[in-house]
Amino acid sequence: MKRRVDTTCPYCGVGCGVSALVHDQQVIAVEGSARHPANRGRLCVKGSALHETLDPQARLLQPSVRGETVDWSTAINEVATGLRQVIKEHGPDSVAFYVSGQLLTEDYYVANKLMKGFIGSSNIDTNSRLCMSSAVAAQKRAFGSDTVPAHYDDLELADLLVLTGSNAAWTHPVLFQRMMAARTAAQEAGAPDKRMVVIDPRRTATAESADLHLAIRPGTDAVLFNGLLVWLHQRGITNAAYIKRHTQGFAETLATAQQTAGSVAAVAQACAVPVQDIVQFYEWAAETPNMVTFYSMGINQSTSGVDKAQSIINVHLATGRIGKPGAAPFSITGQPNAMGGREVGGLANQLAAHMNWDNPDDINRVERFWRAPNMAREAGLNATDLFSAVGEGRIKAIWIMATNPVVSMPDADRVRAALAQCDLVIVSDCMQHTDTLDMAHIRLPATGWSEKDGTVTNSERRISRQRALVKPLGEAQHDWWIITQVAHAMGFGASFPYQQPVDIFREHAQLSAYENNATRDFDLSLYADISTAEYDAMAPMQWPITAKAPMGTARLFGDGQFFTPEGKARLFPIVPRRPVAEANPEQSHFVLNTGRLRDQWHTMTRTGLAERLDQHAPEPRVSVHPDDAEALGVSPDGWLNLATLGDQPTGELKARVVLSTTQRRGELFMPIHWTHQNSRHGRVGALIPTAIDPISGQPELKHAVVQARVW
Ligand code: SF4
Repeated sequence: MKRRVDTTCPYCGVGCGVSALVHDQQVIAVEGSARHPANRGRLCVKGSALHETLDPQARLLQPSVRGETVDWSTAINEVATGLRQVIKEHGPDSVAFYVSGQLLTEDYYVANKLMKGFIGSSNIDTNSRLCMSSAVAAQKRAFGSDTVPAHYDDLELADLLVLTGSNAAWTHPVLFQRMMAARTAAQEAGAPDKRMVVIDPRRTATAESADLHLAIRPGTDAVLFNGLLVWLHQRGITNAAYIKRHTQGFAETLATAQQTAGSVAAVAQACAVPVQDIVQFYEWAAETPNMVTFYSMGINQSTSGVDKAQSIINVHLATGRIGKPGAAPFSITGQPNAMGGREVGGLANQLAAHMNWDNPDDINRVERFWRAPNMAREAGLNATDLFSAVGEGRIKAIWIMATNPVVSMPDADRVRAALAQCDLVIVSDCMQHTDTLDMAHIRLPATGWSEKDGTVTNSERRISRQRALVKPLGEAQHDWWIITQVAHAMGFGASFPYQQPVDIFREHAQLSAYENNATRDFDLSLYADISTAEYDAMAPMQWPITAKAPMGTARLFGDGQFFTPEGKARLFPIVPRRPVAEANPEQSHFVLNTGRLRDQWHTMTRTGLAERLDQHAPEPRVSVHPDDAEALGVSPDGWLNLATLGDQPTGELKARVVLSTTQRRGELFMPIHWTHQNSRHGRVGALIPTAIDPISGQPELKHAVVQARVW
């Protein structure tokens, strides 16, 4: 008997609705759900191949302890006993969880509750740290809350789209399709042009479609946006009434921008872009109130990611271009549930329901709600510090869920070495082999897409159901169930009574509304008593979802009210930091730019299983400008050895060359997807030194300076 089930795609932060055709216990086809507001029937190539990645042979199907297959009860007891023993001997901060934007919100909630309220440590961080924690910090600083103000429709309503640090055509393809379709429709209707400016050191597929491409020197984004603020102010485009009524910090911010950006010529020189192109961008920005700035990893993955994001937000606040149809700064997340993780407190510096460690009332409120016996009192270690602590022996037990840090973390060899000497490594994963799972003492088979059941939140704050389509394979269990069983075995069972995901979601919603939520943005009070039937039928909705806003909230800040104590948004003066180190091709020193391919996801554990996705790029290649290749003496199909340069040399790799004129001279590009599992020679994380943003803790995964030699 065939049936159709609505669910969501498990890959990028667009969060597309998927209509799956299921026959018995098999997903036989997928198509975009016409009912889902994010994609309205569209899917990209990754999403449309979802059913081709469900290979039972590739799945982890049974728990094991130190190489011995065991039953669940034994595995759970081993985890609980191991964690209890380490806590007894070394205290709660000697254990850590490293979780993932692949988890569902319900999984995330239970993991966060167990660690922060019952184990008594806040050493739980997520791989979303690597993707968008700088955007979080910038939003909290500017708005007083981690709030994305916009709606995807704003990408169609904007007359000027500024995409910076994003190759959306490949990384968020359905949003890009929506932008392009809106542009075509406007042209066909004879409406004024909708323009797109792409700011990216490389001429990506996205830049190819732009009206203007600014191929800036890597790391100079804040100079460009500071210069834009000055330009707009000089031409009277900044909104004095809005600034006065709804913001603070404008005068200092403008003064700093004037000092640091200087003239347009100085901006052009700093960014290494022709003056006329800068002027064109600034003129379009001046004449187009409906402007959305869409930013992603190219902004966030930087040692000054928070400041870069703030420089964008400054421009929007100074012009009042926020909270209105077609006008917003719009941070786009990489992962399908990075936002859901933020909502429950999946980052070590977050509490739960957008509450904060720096507010004792918040800590006490969560403690009361959870009836937590061992409530943590301060923020824990971010991802890079957490793995350093593992390497130094301060963390003696780590539980990694649904992520592959041996590949994806910076200084990945150091992460591998840290795990190799850790007393207890527990890994939950749905796949049979990952570089990280292969290092685990205890392996726990988790359910994967098509089996998982719960909710995710996409980049526009829209909560959608990811529904179970088939029964779990083998002994695989849901992550929330595994964590709940461990909580029971550790003696906390009364506080973890969950039988089904709706029990967890209901509690999460109740916490969001607990004891007056007026000072916080995140509120799901309408779901506080949600029934199983209502949860099953839940339609995709943007939070806050309250009695006042039963259909969700499309945009925030339209009323000029922010979540700071004063109710005003904060502009913040930005002094651009030095860009990443200069290339020196004469000495074979290059700036390595990292990024994603159109047809692969993260470390390819799933997309690598679909033959047609593999065809787009069958092997990891390093893109080299032809002039640089000639200077290096490497043939068009030859090999380069890349080694990290700098204070903290990390690793090296070998990659076959592909010649490309789409990047600036002196720069190389490599995709991030390949691992030791799928290739002996493409693990880019091993080349990236550990350098983090001092505010957000987000690593600069985007760039490294490397030495290239012919191999
Ligand atoms: Fe999935 Fe993202 Fe593609 Fe949509 S755009 S189908 S969410 S990978």
